Order: sequence, then C-alpha cells, then structure tokens
Amino acid sequence: MQTLFTPEQLRDPAIASSNQILRTCVHCGMCTATCPTFQLLGDELDSPRGRIYLIKDMLETGRPATEEVVRHVDRCLSCLSCMTTCPSGVNYMHLVDHARAYIEDTYQRPFAERVLRRVLGAIIPRPWLFRLALMGAGVARPFKWLIPGQSMLAQRLRAMVSLAPATVPPASAVETPQVHPAIGLRKARVALLAGCAQQVLSPSINEATIRLLTRLGVEVVVAREAGCCGSLNHHMGQHDAAMARARANIEAWSQEAEGQGLDAIIVNASGCGTTIKDYGFMFREAPAALAAKAATVAELARDITEFLTGFGYAPQREAPGLTVAYHSACSLQHGQRVTTDPKTLLSRAGFRVVEPAEGHLCCGSAGTYNLLQPVIATQLRDRKLANIRRTRPDLIAAGNIGCLTQLGGEELPVVHTIELLDWMAGGPIPLSLAGPLAGRG
Ligand code: SF4
Ligand code: SF4
Repeated sequence: MQTLFTPEQLRDPAIASSNQILRTCVHCGMCTATCPTFQLLGDELDSPRGRIYLIKDMLETGRPATEEVVRHVDRCLSCLSCMTTCPSGVNYMHLVDHARAYIEDTYQRPFAERVLRRVLGAIIPRPWLFRLALMGAGVARPFKWLIPGQSMLAQRLRAMVSLAPATVPPASAVETPQVHPAIGLRKARVALLAGCAQQVLSPSINEATIRLLTRLGVEVVVAREAGCCGSLNHHMGQHDAAMARARANIEAWSQEAEGQGLDAIIVNASGCGTTIKDYGFMFREAPAALAAKAATVAELARDITEFLTGFGYAPQREAPGLTVAYHSACSLQHGQRVTTDPKTLLSRAGFRVVEPAEGHLCCGSAGTYNLLQPVIATQLRDRKLANIRRTRPDLIAAGNIGCLTQLGGEELPVVHTIELLDWMAGGPIPLSLAGPLAGRG
C-alpha cells in the first residue's frame, strides 16, 4: 500500500513504524474472512482492511480522530485473528495500538465514557480496588434490571454487574512478594506474573501454577514491585499508564534476572503474555539500558504451557475420563502463536480434548471489550458457547482469565488449563469441578 507521510511526520518513531506496517498491506482482503466484527456486522469498515484504511487516513492527514474512526477502531477486539490470516505479515497489533493512543490524544469522548474508561483503567489493575469494586457489583447484581433504558451506558452498566461474580474469593497468600522454593532438587528459577484481575477473580490459578512448578523442581519468585502488565491501559490507548506499569515489571524482573538469575518469566494469563512479549517493541525508543532490559524481559516471557512442554510434565493420577473443550484464547493462538502446547499437555494429563468449530473466533472477552462493547461481545459469546456445546464436553478449559469469565456462569464448568494439569499431577480438584464431579477426584 502506498503511503504519503512527509519526511517530517516520519521523524516520529510511532509514525515511522506505522508507515512500515501500512506499506506491507497489499489490500487483498483475506483478513476479512476471519475477522469476528466483519463476520457479525458485515461492514468493510469493521474489517481489518477497512480499519487499516481509516487509520492510514487519520495518521497521514494528522487530523484529530473523527467519530467514525473511533467507532470502528473501538469495535476492534484486538483479537489479532487478522494477523494469523494475513499472507503479507501485516503487524496489525502495532498499528491498532498506535491508533488507539492517537485517538486518546486527539479525540474528546463523551463525558460519561471518559469517566468510565478512566475508572476501568484505574481500578482493574489494582487488585485491592478491583476486589472492592467486584464486591459492590456483586451486591448490585440482583438489581441489574433496575438499570433503565437501552443506551450504551445502561448496557455497559448491566454488563459490568452481570460479569461480576456472585461471591469474590478471599485473597491468596501465594501472590504476595516472596520466593516459593523448589521441592527437591532445584532445576530452574522463574518469576511468576501474579497479575491483577486474575488474582482477584480466581486466585486458584496462581496457586495451581506455583504448586505444579515447585513440585517439578522450579523455584518461583513473585517479585516485589511487579504487578499489572499494562495491557488493560494499553488497549484503551492509555499510553502513559501502560508504560508506567510495564516499566515497573521490567525493573522488578531485571533485578531478579541480574541477581539470582531467571530461566523464564511465567505468565498464566495469555492476554498479559502477549503484552509482556511485546515489551521490547514498546520500549524500543527508551534509553539504551531500559530498552535492553525490556528486550530481555520480553525474551524471557513464556506462557505456562510453553514452559511446561519443555519441562517434562507428567500426570500422577489415573485419567478421569473427562472430555475437555479447549478454547484457544486469541491472545494465545493469534498473539503468541501458542496453539499445540496446551492441547498436548491436556491430552498427556489424560483428558479427551475436543476443539469447537470456529476456534479462530474471539469469545468477546478481549480485556475490557465485554464491558465497553457489550452487544457485540454477547453475540460472540453466545456463538462461541453454541459451538462448544456441539462438542458435548464435560467442561471448558482456557488459558486466559478474560475468556474464563466470559464463558463461565453457564451449565458447563470453566477451568484454567493449569488447574487441570495441577489436579492430574497431584493437586486438588479445581473448585468449579468439585461440585459437578464429586467423587471423581
Ligand atoms: S490480509 Fe493482510 S495484506 Fe491482505 S488486506 Fe488484510 S492486512 Fe492487508
Ligand atoms: S484484531 Fe480482530 S476484530 Fe480487530 S480487525 Fe483484526 S480480526 Fe478484526
């Protein structure tokens, strides 16, 4: 694709990067076939190619973002399905990340929306605040029908209240900064991203991760000052907040890597993993020392299933005879290209693994998307669950807390992959299975 940026515009590193990306697009349109929003809405401007044209025009003219551009970019899930499909290797992720930051800088959203986005960006990354907010939402849940009207704000408020769990589990002691020693001979030393939303919604995921890793001879460090990876802010275009959170992690993990050393940085929420693996790019223009640390951290980042695949996972229990519908989170399959490891590990653990049709399509979670775009998110969720039900599984497994929350609450138990692997390696039966499968664990 031909671009018309001036030499002066190209001195901006963000524009220079987007220019390179735009030039690789040959506008063939193959990406439209696998784009969830194009599949649902049928509008070219809600396809990757359409958005690329809108972003190109916005950046080339240097004008403030228009309502039209914002509407179509906001509807993008950042699921990155288009990147898997694109034969030209267009890095849509970096392009849309740039567009979102540009929009935040140049577009004045309606007041209620500005407040909502600020509140989400401030609360979710802070576990103690998020816990309080969820407790409040849980109390409001039975009264959600009292929220009047069909305005976007009313729909968003109802979505927030609906997605809040009925009860918020107590905080886990494993997530405070500490070292969890390896059991037996220490074979590796890793840092674990304790995260933000996940540790509040489902502390059992980090517990299972630490239990399994230490049992395999891995020392697990929860580093002081490490926290939210920054992706929630990043995907809302809140550039400074995202960079500050990412930088805190980079410094915390670099200190560990330069001290006693790290073999990997383990991430068990794939949305976070995609962002951490991109830290090198995000900090490419930073002073050399910080840029080098960011690149090293990105290099060390591993999804838990990637790490376990190379670390000799073996089950200790008899196969439970359960059929698992594996839901491949977009951030894992498209963002990190981790596709076979989780399924191979689940099979090795003794589960029968089935894959629903349209596995490439997003479930509608996508960070804060299900809160900000509840109508599209619900359509995608219903479509995903219908495909899953057709496989007649006993449960759903996924490697991302956003997907687990989005797909939960129905008749099928929803469990993180690591909880199943830990269970079969001697850990406790996952909480959401304990009731339905009483007696099997
Ligand atoms: S598939 Fe790739 S090259 Fe083709 S239009 Fe989409 S982004 Fe451009
Ligand atoms: S990231 Fe997903 S929703 Fe956005 S354009 Fe690409 S395929 Fe479509």
